[in-house]
Amino acid sequence: MKYYILFGPPGAGKGTQAKLMVDKYNFRHVSTGDLLRSEIAKETELGKKAKALIEAGNLVDDSTVVKMIESEIDNNPSVKGFLFDGFPRTTAQAEQLDKMLEKRGNKIEKVISFIIDDKKVFERIKHRAEIENRKDDAEPATIQNRINTYHCKTEPLIGYYKKCDKYFEINGDGEIDEIFARVIKLL
Ligand code: AMP
Repeated sequence: MKYYILFGPPGAGKGTQAKLMVDKYNFRHVSTGDLLRSEIAKETELGKKAKALIEAGNLVDDSTVVKMIESEIDNNPSVKGFLFDGFPRTTAQAEQLDKMLEKRGNKIEKVISFIIDDKKVFERIKHRAEIENRKDDAEPATIQNRINTYHCKTEPLIGYYKKCDKYFEINGDGEIDEIFARVIKLL
């Protein structure tokens, strides 16, 4: 079982690249954002708690997302590998993920980080708002909060994964196929 992390700010193209990787490598794509949005749509207790946080562009608590990831791993024992998209987003999540995988005799293979500047991210999210109708994509202040949250809480993970030689950067700017070719080369 191989475990990869797709890393980068919101709007970096992680989800788009994950779909292409699923087609080519038969991995399972696990996006904590998608899982949370599905809980909201189903109006579960978890979804009700997460809704306001997500719509304001804040993070959902670590234990909730860690539990979601753990059940995805345990419920899909026969897949070739996992692509985590939007997870981990804090050092606590990364530490808990390591423990979770260690318990199962596994580890993270590579962290694939999509490098893109804040201005481009802003433009992409605004464009996505027109297509996907996500509340957290609609307001410039919310988009900015998500970008700030990425810099404050998620970016420190770069150091965490560099220490164990798992961190690899890819230029996230360009055409989708062009970026995918960079991903294939790295894998
Ligand atoms: P995304 O679709 O990855 O942009 O995630 C949308 C929103 O879901 C984020 O802005 C957070 O509010 C929440 N979320 C997704 N993944 C996580 C995570 N790993 N930790 C905390 N909150 C998350």
